[in-house]
Amino acid sequence: MIPEKELVLVKAGGSFITYKDKVFSVNYLALENLSKILLSTMNRYRIILGNGGGSFAHPVVKMFQKSDPKMLIVQCQKATRLLNKIIVDYLVDRGVPATSMQTSAFIYRKHNAVEAFIEPLITALSHGIIPVVYGECIFDEEKCYDILSTEKVFESIASKTTVTRIVLLTDVDGVYTCNPKECSNPELIPRITKRNIDEVLGILKAESGRDVTGSIYSKVKSMSIFSEKYGVRIYIVSGFNIADSIKAVRGEEKVYGTIIDMNS
Ligand code: ADP
Repeated sequence: MIPEKELVLVKAGGSFITYKDKVFSVNYLALENLSKILLSTMNRYRIILGNGGGSFAHPVVKMFQKSDPKMLIVQCQKATRLLNKIIVDYLVDRGVPATSMQTSAFIYRKHNAVEAFIEPLITALSHGIIPVVYGECIFDEEKCYDILSTEKVFESIASKTTVTRIVLLTDVDGVYTCNPKECSNPELIPRITKRNIDEVLGILKAESGRDVTGSIYSKVKSMSIFSEKYGVRIYIVSGFNIADSIKAVRGEEKVYGTIIDMNS
């Protein structure tokens, strides 16, 4: 029997594919890079792509936060569906066999647990197709909607099938000691392991006051838990660095970026 190809989950982060400070704006250079990264890796690996909501999801959720939850969920889904469609159509036009998989149609929240039906994704993968999932507002049995990040969608997938590694493509080269867009002396942290995770989280927590969302602290924290739980490496690299993004998908040792590996 031919062994199954490794399954790699690749996230095109909102900071990479959109201009986060400009509502509903797509970075087409990022989409071009993304298509190159996928075209040079897709034959060797099974790939599930996920896209973040960036400047599409967050402003809409904020705008409708106080409205009827029905309107919030449909408006949120309208915005994320549009971004996902732009990405998938671009990839298909570049020759990538990608197709949209609406997250809220295969994942929902029931009694505080996330339930997923991933068989359609696995079937698509078996035919060499790249399913493209996304961070979305999903249906919740009790409170109508819940916001599920792309990383959480990946977690749901990892709980149901064997994932080899995760690659997060952002607009910076990895995790730094402070926000590289704002501080004067950022140092790239190449490896995060059991040995330095507490120290790294301490540094990021102290810095998170300056980062409005504090997102990098929670991203590193949740990804380190993910790495340990599922025995996978998480690569955080810049999607604008095509060569190293490809190396990350391949799982190489020497990659310009950050590798979170809680199992080494
Ligand atoms: P995405 O939306 O692509 O998943 P986030 O916006 O959540 O990514 O995180 C990436 C952003 O985090 C970068 O654009 C960067 O400016 C910001 N950031 C803040 N602090 C740091 C840090 N210490 N290291 C790396 N990035 C940081």
